[in-house]
Amino acid sequence: MTTRVRPSNKRCLVIGGSGFLGGHLVEKLLDRGYGVSVFDIRQNYELPNVTFHQGDLCNKQALLSALKDVSLVFHCASPAPGSDNRELFERVNIQGTRTVIQACKEAGVQKMVLTSSASVVYEGKDIKNGKESLPYAKKPIDYYTQTKIKQEKLVLEACDRENGFLTVAIRPHGIFGPRDPQLVPILVDTARRGKMKFIIGNGTNLVDFTYVDNVVHGHILAAEHLKADSPVCGKPYHITNDEPICFWDFMSEILVGLGYPAPRYHLPYLFVYGLALLLWMLALLLSPLISFKPTFTPMRVALAGTYHYYSCERAKEDMSYTPIVTLKEGIKRTVESYPHLRQEE
Ligand code: NAD
Repeated sequence: MTTRVRPSNKRCLVIGGSGFLGGHLVEKLLDRGYGVSVFDIRQNYELPNVTFHQGDLCNKQALLSALKDVSLVFHCASPAPGSDNRELFERVNIQGTRTVIQACKEAGVQKMVLTSSASVVYEGKDIKNGKESLPYAKKPIDYYTQTKIKQEKLVLEACDRENGFLTVAIRPHGIFGPRDPQLVPILVDTARRGKMKFIIGNGTNLVDFTYVDNVVHGHILAAEHLKADSPVCGKPYHITNDEPICFWDFMSEILVGLGYPAPRYHLPYLFVYGLALLLWMLALLLSPLISFKPTFTPMRVALAGTYHYYSCERAKEDMSYTPIVTLKEGIKRTVESYPHLRQEE
């Protein structure tokens, strides 16, 4: 039998609540009767009953004033991946997370749910049904992931049952859904430039794409199961749709749903990977003379051409998680939410 924990009548704070995931989380928390505040460097919407605090999470004083009367914190802020601004990732994801933890402890916050990432264990090689017991990547795929590893460790190590500060980390993978500024818009832009014709490898590599409502559901379950006597304390949890799909089938369904042709021509994985590696080495060699940063990188090729899907058994066992929106329904809702990106007839 599952135990359902009633939401606290105290406030929760969503750090990063103006973002894609954060915005969906705020809406669902309100639906479930939570009092919600948002802390973010930007405010891009207004909602009745939501208090916005605009500030940088590296600023402890700003955080402290947002944390008054807050018992539960969701930390889902991060600079967007894809940039190579190492200093920014380190400042926000590592120093900033240390500051968030200190501020939470000072303000008497009892629970903190971190949005980590399943990529903390990915090194560009196949992962099939990966469990949370996999070691952290020794060679993370980029600076973003490098700092997500340190961030997750900081938050989980801060879990302190004796002093009543409980933490948990959610590791989503490939979040998609309405209002995502990354996946669908970038995919459509690439298709419009005629660059979505090719499939890297044989196209059978399975990957997790997780509908945003399921990720939100996982966060709320984690918060509600986070109690001193619960196995959830101090642990990471994969939250997926539990329906791994071939990477290129997912891309094709979104593209075709929006009226663009699906990629058709296969290119051998090793050939494309080698080409990206060559380009990357060339950029490195020429860097004293010209600055050119290829977007076609070996890691992007690996992400598109390898298996990387994860088991969410632990979340099922410890917090009774099951996805609430199927992949098919998630794709349908996502496609319908981007009418402006549809291919003109
Ligand atoms: P997003 O960029 O839409 O949202 C991140 C939010 O953090 C933004 O609103 C941004 O303004 C805010 N932010 C950034 N720096 C800040 C700072 N210094 N102070 C305060 N706020 C700051 O990103 P998202 O896709 O919603 O991702 C949310 C979380 O989920 C991130 O932690 C990300 O690492 C993680 N994640 C995302 C995915 C995915 O596929 N989108 C997958 C795995 C993990």
